[in-house]
Amino acid sequence: MSLRRSKLDKNSVYYRFAHKSQVLEKIEFYGKEIAIGDLRHTIAEKQKLPKVDLQILNESTGEVYTRDGHLLRPNVIVTVRRTPIQTQKKPAVLNLEGADILSRVKRAKTAPQPKPEPVPEEKAPCPPEYLCSLCTGLFENPSIAPCCGRSACLRCFEAQPTTICPLCKRQRAEDQKPLPNPRLADIIASLNLDFFELPAVTVARQAAAARGARNESSLGKSKLAASGGLGSGNAP
Ligand SMILES: [Zn+2]
Ligand SMILES: [Zn+2]
Repeated sequence: MSLRRSKLDKNSVYYRFAHKSQVLEKIEFYGKEIAIGDLRHTIAEKQKLPKVDLQILNESTGEVYTRDGHLLRPNVIVTVRRTPIQTQKKPAVLNLEGADILSRVKRAKTAPQPKPEPVPEEKAPCPPEYLCSLCTGLFENPSIAPCCGRSACLRCFEAQPTTICPLCKRQRAEDQKPLPNPRLADIIASLNLDFFELPAVTVARQAAAARGARNESSLGKSKLAASGGLGSGNAP
């Protein structure tokens, strides 16, 4: 393994279960913050519990974290509650993420148990945790910079000089290549994109990918058309 973890800051957050509040446990992670999804996953693994029925709540603010993409700073203490698994028609826990941030924040203060919400009529803006700061689109093949622990699309890293980190602008050695961030990739893959207003960059990429797929299936035989396809490059 060539993971150069020693180059990353090692940090911790703490958690305790609501029903045994005297036991404070520590979760260590590399980088400046940990995603709620990662934390939930790690706690579930450690405690051998299903990830979906863990509710995570900030002890000092009372905020209930419902989005897996929410990033926690080091040394935060959270309370973990086991919640009954929802037996709704749609079991996907990520469906409601970011759908209505304001009312969720209010609810978090008044009632700690979030209820499933109906599909919003208006789409919510895509939460910044899911967006690459380099291209402003939804992460694609998210990779993590060893120097600062921040993530960007693989292609965005590759489009930059290899000697300077495009995220923190620090010099980096040739062997400090961005590492795949499979957890973030999973989170992005599990998002229900119907709920979000996607960034223009992502919409354009999806359209290009769909065009590519269509061309491949319908023009599979007549590859001669390739030059025509490239020629019509100017999108409206
Ligand atoms: Zn960096
Ligand atoms: Zn990007």
